[in-house]
Amino acid sequence: MKYFGAHVSASGGVENAPLNAQAIGAKAFALFTKNQRQWVAAPLTAQSIDAFKANCARLGFAPNHILPHDSYLINLGHPDDEAIEKSRAAFLDEMQRCEVLGLDRLNFHPGSHLREISEEACMQRIAESINRTLDKTHGVTAVIENTAGQGSNLGYRFEQLAYIIDRVEDKSRVGICIDTCHAGAAGYELTTVEGCEQTFAELDRIVGLKYLRGMHLNDMTKPTGSHIDRHTPLGEGYLGLTVFQYIARDPRFDDLPLVLETPDESRWPDEIRLLYSFT
Ligand SMILES: [Zn+2]
Ligand SMILES: [Zn+2]
Repeated sequence: MKYFGAHVSASGGVENAPLNAQAIGAKAFALFTKNQRQWVAAPLTAQSIDAFKANCARLGFAPNHILPHDSYLINLGHPDDEAIEKSRAAFLDEMQRCEVLGLDRLNFHPGSHLREISEEACMQRIAESINRTLDKTHGVTAVIENTAGQGSNLGYRFEQLAYIIDRVEDKSRVGICIDTCHAGAAGYELTTVEGCEQTFAELDRIVGLKYLRGMHLNDMTKPTGSHIDRHTPLGEGYLGLTVFQYIARDPRFDDLPLVLETPDESRWPDEIRLLYSFT
C-alpha cells in the first residue's frame, strides 16, 4: 500500500500537522518540529507532545509514515570546527524532538564543504556527526536526503550516500530519502520508464533500497542535470508524470512516507488524488 502526503505546516504547534495532513487527503506527511530558519527553539511542551500523539493515533498516521525534516541552517559537514559543533548541537536537539514525539526517523540534507575542504573530508565529518548523534539518541533513524548538487552541497551522487553510510557505525539507524527533483537535477534519468528502471537499479546496487526510509515527490523546473534545486507541481516540469506513475505502481515503494514538497499547497489535494489514481 502507498502512503502519499505532503510537507504540511506545523504552525501553531506540531499537533496541527496531522490535522493539516488529514485535510488534504494525505496518508503520510512531513513536518518541521521547530522553525526551520532559526537555530534554537523552545522545547516541545508536554501538552503539544500529547496532542500530537493523540491526533496521529486518531487520524491513523503511524510513525513510519511521518518524515520530519531538520532545519536548513544545519551543516553536518561544516569545514570549521566551531561551526560544526553548532550544527551538531542543533541536529541532536532535532533528533531528541523526534524521540519525544515518538517518531522513528529524521530527514536531513547531508552537508556542504563550502569549497574549503575536499568532498571526502566533508563526508567523513558528516558520518562523524551522525555517529555522535546516534550515540546520544535511541530509536530515531538518521535519513540522508540526496541533493541536486547545487553550490557545494554533497549527496548528489548515490556513491556519496554510500560513502557516508559506510562510515556510520550503527547501520540499523541510518537511511536515505530520495527526492525526485534532486535526483533529476543531479543528472539521473527519470523521464522515461527505462530511465527509472536504470536509476533505481543503480540506487539499489550502490546504496541498497533496504536503506530507503521515504521519498520526496517533486517535479523539476530545470532540465535533467541542471544542478538547480527548484520544485514544481507534478507533471508541470521536466520530469513529467512517468516517474510518479512508476513509483505509485512499484511495490518497492510501499509502506514508506512519499511526500510532496511542491510549491502550490492549494494543489496538494489534487496531486495526492492523482498519485492514488496511478496505483
Ligand atoms: Zn526534498
Ligand atoms: Zn529541493
